Amino acid sequence: MCAVVGVFDSPRASKLAYYGLFAMQHRGQEATGITTSENEKLHTIKGKGLVTEVFDEEAFNVLRGDMAVGHNRYSTAGDDSILDAQPVFARYSLGEISVVHNGNLVNKNEVRQDLIDKGAIFQSFMDTENIIHLIAKSKKESLQDRIMETIDRIKGAYNLLIQSRSKMFVIRDRYGVRPLSMAKLPDGGYMIASETCAFDLVGAEFIRDVRPGEMLIFEKGQEPTSIQFGEPDFRPCAFEYIYFARPDSVIDGKNVYETRLKMGEILAKEQPCDVDLVLPVPDSGVASAKGYAKGLGVPFEMGIVRNHYVGRTFIEPTQEIRDLKVKLKLSPIQNLIKGKRIAIVDDSLVRGTTANQIVKMLKDAGAKEVHMRLASPQIKHPCRYGIDTPSYEELISANMSLEQICQKVQADSLGFLSIDGLVESLGKDQNYSLVSFDGNYFID
Ligand code: AMP
Repeated sequence: MCAVVGVFDSPRASKLAYYGLFAMQHRGQEATGITTSENEKLHTIKGKGLVTEVFDEEAFNVLRGDMAVGHNRYSTAGDDSILDAQPVFARYSLGEISVVHNGNLVNKNEVRQDLIDKGAIFQSFMDTENIIHLIAKSKKESLQDRIMETIDRIKGAYNLLIQSRSKMFVIRDRYGVRPLSMAKLPDGGYMIASETCAFDLVGAEFIRDVRPGEMLIFEKGQEPTSIQFGEPDFRPCAFEYIYFARPDSVIDGKNVYETRLKMGEILAKEQPCDVDLVLPVPDSGVASAKGYAKGLGVPFEMGIVRNHYVGRTFIEPTQEIRDLKVKLKLSPIQNLIKGKRIAIVDDSLVRGTTANQIVKMLKDAGAKEVHMRLASPQIKHPCRYGIDTPSYEELISANMSLEQICQKVQADSLGFLSIDGLVESLGKDQNYSLVSFDGNYFID
């Protein structure tokens, strides 16, 4: 998951990177960091916590320079060490570099073992560290050639920003699984970000998406150059649209909110129900619930209140705390719900924890019937390309039939969007990455 940002040729580089990361906080809340480049020196500040917690005024006195890369790290159970915070900085034979990475390398263990066999020492569990080692160990003369050689060795979904003292390299893997876009800054420089919501905050003007298999090179005093290093086989991640990206972002030409509305509308055609009210699970189900209500011709209400001071339910690694957190986060408006037949819409069902709690909550609030609808297909496979989904054992749809799940979450009925319905909502012009739903692990 995670967010990356890059700023090139701006006297406000670190501030702009900071605002970009702030806008993309939803992509990762565990750790954050920025490296700037000032003449011959790179400066890095990173730490665990939110963007507003890690950077203060003093940080910007340190982060001098007109170039910056930044990163928000998403938390997954088990490896929340500060050593896993990015950017990853290294001094090597050609000087200093700093790397940020969004995605997942599928051959990271093989590459790491090979590097360890050759004497490399690792400080973290991040695949990003493999990249630093591969660059440092390459015998090629220029950094660009070393990066090219590194790209040949790694497989998977990756967006990489690599900053040296005078250049910034921006790389999107040939499948373009994770989003990455480029914008022009009001004062003339460039900005790169995982999501376009970062541009909107700072008034940067979107130019285009970075192409699958493209490397952009930003060098002082020159226009950016583009190299197509890999044959594009574009597989944008459907889950970015379903859940992960911010609704105001435009990913590869499509506004996320509009795709979610469409998912809801198509869900209403595929899985209708006879109800008095449609409610969303806030905030993840809001847009698709609106679409669902419109599709059914039934009123939509924000019948569940969300406490915004509690983080996402996945942040805590243990099941016990996850259950408690759902209750801390969501609370029903009884006056709206009592005696009504309700359709409750969420974007996805992963372990089934949220659905279970919410159905109970609505029934306790006096709902006559509760019909659970999910604006995505059943998640039957873990994503290996950068979305944090649990293993097969924990995925409820990988282990239970529809009827069993319906019983488990105690709903009166349960319905999912079909894979065809999802593709129709996104537009049939692309070959989306649907691994969580169809198990087609197209990379290796
Ligand atoms: P669960 O409660 O385990 O069924 O998870 C479903 C809830 O988690 C939904 O409300 C989703 O919005 C949210 N969700 C789905 N995928 C993810 C993810 N990869 N990370 C964090 N939250 C997620």
